[in-house]
Amino acid sequence: MPAFPTAARRALDDAQLRRNLHHATHTIRAKRARAVAEVDQWERLRSNGAAIKDHTLTHLDTYLTQLEESLTRAGASVHWARDAEEANRIVTGLVRATGTDEVVKVKSMATQEIELNQALEQAGIRAWETDLAELIVQLGHDQPSHILVPAIHRNRAEIREIFLREMGQVGVGAPADLTSEPARLAEAARGHLREKFLRAKVAVCGANFAVAQTGTLVVVESEGNGRMCLTLPETLIAVVGIEKVVPTFADLDVFLQLLPRSSTGERMNPYTSMWTGVTPGDGPQAVHVVLLDNGRTDALADDLGRQALRCIRCSACLNVCPVYERVGGHAYGSVYPGPIGAVLNPLIRGTTSAVDRALPSASSLCGACFDACPVRIEIPDLLVRLRTRVVDEKRGGLPTPEALAMKATAWTLASPARLEGAQRVSALAGRALRGRERIGRLPGPLAAWSDARDAPVPAPETFRSWWKRERGER
Ligand code: SF4
Repeated sequence: MPAFPTAARRALDDAQLRRNLHHATHTIRAKRARAVAEVDQWERLRSNGAAIKDHTLTHLDTYLTQLEESLTRAGASVHWARDAEEANRIVTGLVRATGTDEVVKVKSMATQEIELNQALEQAGIRAWETDLAELIVQLGHDQPSHILVPAIHRNRAEIREIFLREMGQVGVGAPADLTSEPARLAEAARGHLREKFLRAKVAVCGANFAVAQTGTLVVVESEGNGRMCLTLPETLIAVVGIEKVVPTFADLDVFLQLLPRSSTGERMNPYTSMWTGVTPGDGPQAVHVVLLDNGRTDALADDLGRQALRCIRCSACLNVCPVYERVGGHAYGSVYPGPIGAVLNPLIRGTTSAVDRALPSASSLCGACFDACPVRIEIPDLLVRLRTRVVDEKRGGLPTPEALAMKATAWTLASPARLEGAQRVSALAGRALRGRERIGRLPGPLAAWSDARDAPVPAPETFRSWWKRERGER
């Protein structure tokens, strides 16, 4: 996977992708704005959400222990996973123990983060995504590109083609006369998934929230396919990030108002499923909860990172981001794209790879993400501080071209005579390029900087010379 500047440039060349993204993000954005405007005390609700999350994260050890006790008391088995490998090993072992070789899945970011589907496949277990958008991504042999709408980059005609081509290969095929009307596409998906729901013995899910007080897990969704997974199979395995815990059932009052309005622009999710362990004779009779760390305690120990763990994965920040809107989610190289992905990935995965080092710069810092975030994560501020960290990590050893450029700039700015000389050269360049609006690519070592941005044409006259001409020496 290339780093953001390269991946973004490729995405920008895809006009169809940009059209799909523009249409989808603007539609959700307008719905969200209307739903939020209905709430008189929205700002207060946001502050409450942030405060509950901050309190929980400060006492995470206490609440996780309480959650484990509550879950165990309710008949669930709790497993702790330090990283993706351990989580995959636990889930694979649990599925194998049931004697089945397939599972149905509710949409879950945590399982995508740990690449559970691939791990299951290697163990000879097939995982069927049941969320419509996830199904489109899976059948298209594609990657999700949005937190909430993983197939946002696909339009209806593309989805029809995928269904016709792929469904029959792995189960009930799409009807030959399938059109790209939403109702017909949903009907084809329903027919395809029904067979899998009725056969499945094991389901794998995530959770939007986990209540420490009662051991209740919560999944919110729009289609009802998740609820089929949560109720029909005999065994349910939930992979839950440790930051999903909230202290009390009453706290859900705040988050179940914030989440749907921020994510889909609805007052309430069509389906909010809550379950507490095992109920004899009703629903799954074996419930396993895998509590996943995978870099979260590192983020928690970091004064920057703790705030990012407030995220409730609503995707509002993606839908308002001018950068995401133009390049889509694949360019971020992670299941967490957009502004929050640019913060979370370097925090959770570190900044050792080129992909993660580039992410804090994948933003215009316009601030729209902070305004939209229901738990008030100061994403632009976090991005600036992460950029500083990336630069600091590069100190020592051979200076980078960027560091040399900064040194040269400091040398020039330190002397009025040198600055004036540089301004004269710049004005000369401005006069030579008169008539052009911007420069696409600068020569020599500056090419790396201008590869990812357009440079303005310099003014043909410096401010100093304009001042002298207009005002004399005053
Ligand atoms: S950072 Fe805020 S706006 Fe973005 S997904 Fe998380 S909660 Fe939603």
